[in-house]
Amino acid sequence: MPIYEYRCSQCRRRFSIFWRTYSEAAEGDPTCRYCGASNPQRLISRVRVLRSEESRMESMADPSALGDFDENDPKSIGRFMRKMMGEMGDEGGDLGPEFEEVVDRLEAGQDPEAIEREVPGLAEGLGDTGPGMEPDL
Ligand SMILES: [Zn+2]
Repeated sequence: MPIYEYRCSQCRRRFSIFWRTYSEAAEGDPTCRYCGASNPQRLISRVRVLRSEESRMESMADPSALGDFDENDPKSIGRFMRKMMGEMGDEGGDLGPEFEEVVDRLEAGQDPEAIEREVPGLAEGLGDTGPGMEPDL
């Protein structure tokens, strides 16, 4: 499932669109998920590049090794979540594109709290670390 990133020409916000197929992505008519403006500017996805690098490194590592898991390191959390996703097998399809995007962002080293703010429809409970999670109004 191709994921393309766009920047809205109206409100300047960045967002991702999950296309079902590459041909749909090529012929699709994306609109801004925030303001609905059409013709957003497509961005080269930095996350994709990092992710292929990540999987290359992972293939060299012992797949059973979770010893380096560090809950304060977004990249470590991302690796852990991706392993969980893989182990869930068929049921993993129910997690939805938001979950996939979160893992991508974590692996890219983004701050989990920032991800939670930026990814609409994110499953509740992710990053539920107790105090400090109040919405900033
Ligand atoms: Zn917009």
